[in-house]
Order: sequence, then structure tokens, then C-alpha cells
Amino acid sequence: MSQSHIKTKEVKTLFAHSGNQCAYPKCKQRLVEPATKHDGAAVIGKIAHIIADSHDGPRGRVAISDDDKNLHPNLVLLCGNHHDLVDAQPNTFSVQVLRQMKADHELNVQRALFADDGPEKPTLTNEVIHSSLLPITHLPDAMFSAPCKFSDQEYDHVFDRIVYPDNRDELVRFVLREGKLFTFHNLNNPQGPFSKVVDRKQVQPLEALKVWDDPELRRRYVTLLNRGLNRFTSLLGMRFDRDHYRYYFEAKEKEKPRKVSYRPLNAKRTSRDVVWQPKKRATNEARNYWFHLAVGLKFHQMDADQWVLSLRPERRITTDTVTSIESTIIGSRVTRRKARMWNDIYLSEINFWRDYLSGGTPRIVLNFGDQSAVIEATLTAFDVEWPGIPGDDKSFKNQTYEEDLFTQLDFDNAVSGSSIDWDECDDNTEEN
Ligand SMILES: [Zn+2]
Repeated sequence: MSQSHIKTKEVKTLFAHSGNQCAYPKCKQRLVEPATKHDGAAVIGKIAHIIADSHDGPRGRVAISDDDKNLHPNLVLLCGNHHDLVDAQPNTFSVQVLRQMKADHELNVQRALFADDGPEKPTLTNEVIHSSLLPITHLPDAMFSAPCKFSDQEYDHVFDRIVYPDNRDELVRFVLREGKLFTFHNLNNPQGPFSKVVDRKQVQPLEALKVWDDPELRRRYVTLLNRGLNRFTSLLGMRFDRDHYRYYFEAKEKEKPRKVSYRPLNAKRTSRDVVWQPKKRATNEARNYWFHLAVGLKFHQMDADQWVLSLRPERRITTDTVTSIESTIIGSRVTRRKARMWNDIYLSEINFWRDYLSGGTPRIVLNFGDQSAVIEATLTAFDVEWPGIPGDDKSFKNQTYEEDLFTQLDFDNAVSGSSIDWDECDDNTEEN
């Protein structure tokens, strides 16, 4: 078919969109073969008109202006074989089929480029981002257990019967295992949240230091901490991403950015974007994906009685603030990959998280009612490691929080609230 009226600009555009590959499904044929020792590069791709150039050509009987015929939307690049095939079978390769073929191919090319498109995009690499560790200065001294008439799956029945405390910040969490309920709340309390769920005559207090020595009990203890964290972050407007074990901000409205207000170190309240659509630096044009600030949080036992919370800044990436890109474009391989972040972004996000989670105070307190977990929001200079970038030596100043009366009071309450009267507990157990 005649290609004489196709302008160079249209041809260039077509080749650029083709990704140097025949548009025919699954055909991997290159359109431009690289130069060899003896010859230059060879252009073997052929341009086919979707609606034919001449009225008598294949797919010619569709109305289109002469000008539009030779524009790139009406053109598709194919290898020689497939070019001849689609013209020889115009009933099989109708206008509709070719349009779809072109659209699918160009989308695939875009997606392939998307995964690796320069430093402004989230470049996915296999590099490990090391987490920052926050020391835990206080953990619940005991885990309580008591027989419960609900099975391990009947969480809803338990939730329905919980007597919720007036304090909304109190984290009422529990674990059901082997016909028993485990919690950090003192189950001996007749007014406690689980008073309508468990048999209070058979309450067993389990001392934390002994619990940590028993792999199964330790797992339940950490599960309780994690469930506390889950509730704590949800009160702060975040959601849990089960696939990646991290917490993230979701948009309040689809395709609308979101900001949160927070108090940075020793400073006035401020706000920052937590869901946003990045813009291309050169043109200020919005990219076709969204960032959601996310954080991985994990409890680790470092020593017999030393625990830390690791804090790992991450980004959730979506196409429309709802659909995760990992599931639509990049696929499962991304689960072991992390978006690499430049170190100043990384550090600023670590700072954001500790400020946000602690409410601008020196510590994060998980209030389990009778007991608490207290996590210091202070980073030490050695906590942060990241994939170093040559020439980037922006230093990180570790600011410390100033105690004020209010935060000291919070801390005192958290710690004093957790002291268990062991004698009282023992007495109750012996009664049974
Ligand atoms: Zn082909």
C-alpha cells in the first residue's frame, strides 16, 4: 500500500510508540534490527493502514478523511510477515481488530517503560532499605488468658460483647487460641472490656519474661502488640496493607489528594501530602499514578529483655488512588522489591513517621488500658542506613524532643498503669 503521504513526524511517533516491536500479539520481532559488523541497522518494520489508504485496499470501505488516513492513530507497525498477513485477511483483521491490536501493544509498551523510567519515577530495585529502629522502653508486664466459650474463628462474637472503655484511645485487642482468650487487659477486672466474654474464675496471668521464652506464647504476645498497632494507626487515619505488612494513607475521595496535619519536632503544627499525584518536573504535567505514604512497622526482640520497633518508610503506588499498581502492572515480582528513595527523602519520611505516630511528643504510647507499650520516638545517629548516593552528603540532624509537663504526665500514666499486682493475681488463680 502507498505510504507516500505519511509525514516523517507521524512515522517517528509510530516508531516511538511501538517499542521497536511488531504490534501483532506475542510477536517479538524487532522493527529495527541493530547494525552488524558489516552492515548498518535495518528497518524491517512495515506500516499498515488500519483504514486503508485507498478505497479499494483492505479495510478501505470505512469513512475517513484523506488527512486522517495518514496520521499515526490510523497506522500500525508490523513485521513483514504480519503486515502481509493482515492485508491478506482483511475480514479477520478488521478495523476493530487492528485498532485493538495497536492499543494493546502501545499500552504494553507504556507499561514496560513505566517500570523503569528514570529517577523521578519510583525506580524498583532489589536493594534493601534498612529500617530505623525505635527503642521500646516499656512493654506489658503480663499477658492474661482465660477460657472463652468462642472458637478461634469467632472474633465477631467476642467483638459484639466487648464492654468498650470511655477512652477511645484505649486499644482493646485480643487473640483467640485453643478455647482461650489472650489479652493485655487484666481479665480479673469485673468491669473490664472482656468481662462478658471470659470465665473470670479461671484467669491466668502470664509473666512477660516467661512468655517471651516460649515460642508459641511469644507469638501471641507479639500478635497482640501488632493488633494494638493496627488499631492505633487506624485511629490516626491509616489502613493496613496485608500483602506487604505495612500501613498506608488512603484517599478520602477517589482521585483526590490528601494531606494530614502533624506536629514536627519542637515546632508548630504543619501539614503534608500523604496521597498525591506526582508531576513531571519539566512540564508540571501530572503523572498517571499516585503515591500514598506508607510505613512498615515491626516489633523485634533484640535481647532477653530488649525490644525495638522498626520503622521503614515506603510508598504505596496506585493508578487512581484505589487500584494498586503492583497488582495491575508490575505484578508479583514487586513484592520483594522496594521503591528506592533518595536519602533525604528517606530521612524526612522517617522523621515524619515518628512525629506523626508520636503526635509530636517524645514517645509513642500504645494504651492497652491496664498496661501500655512505650516506644521512644528518638532516633540515634546510627539507626539509619540507606543505599548511599555518591555526592549526596546531606547530613541528618537528630533533634531531640523536649519534655513538657503534658508528655511527662502521659509517660507516668502509661508506666504506672502497667504495674500489675502479682500477689493479687496469684491469689485469684489459687482460688480455682
Ligand atoms: Zn510480527
